[in-house]
Amino acid sequence: MEVGPSVAPLERIYKLAIPREIAREILEHVEREYPIEACGALFGRVESGSALVEKVVPLRNVLGSSTAFWFDERDWMSAIMSAKREGLEYIGLYHSHAREQPLPSLADRHRMLECPGEVWLIIAYRPGGEPRLAAYRIDDYGSAVMRVQVELL
Ligand SMILES: [Zn+2]
Repeated sequence: MEVGPSVAPLERIYKLAIPREIAREILEHVEREYPIEACGALFGRVESGSALVEKVVPLRNVLGSSTAFWFDERDWMSAIMSAKREGLEYIGLYHSHAREQPLPSLADRHRMLECPGEVWLIIAYRPGGEPRLAAYRIDDYGSAVMRVQVELL
């Protein structure tokens, strides 16, 4: 199964708003998995180019890697289906980097091309350091990686 545009947000997202308690939830997941990359799905509401995260669903990194991630796409799809039943839209994915910078890796960029419109939130985390968050999206095949503004509420 391909991660296709059929589940991507319908609207182009320029800003990702994350309530602090949701950010904490993500960070706890990241800390638990460190140095393995933690990953999960983001759900919420999208309006006027702004996405508000209301729910996160952690997914198991089946690669068990500290430099890459992917997940069982059946888990991912069932998270999307259950969020849809709650009236929440699929926004995209989060994952962690056990490095200083939250920059998409080459593998991340390849994956993002398969998921146009999805927001990818990257959390750079090292124990004892301040976590850094950044979000990105790719609009269409062949287009550049765009920065999505992250706002903690
Ligand atoms: Zn990555």
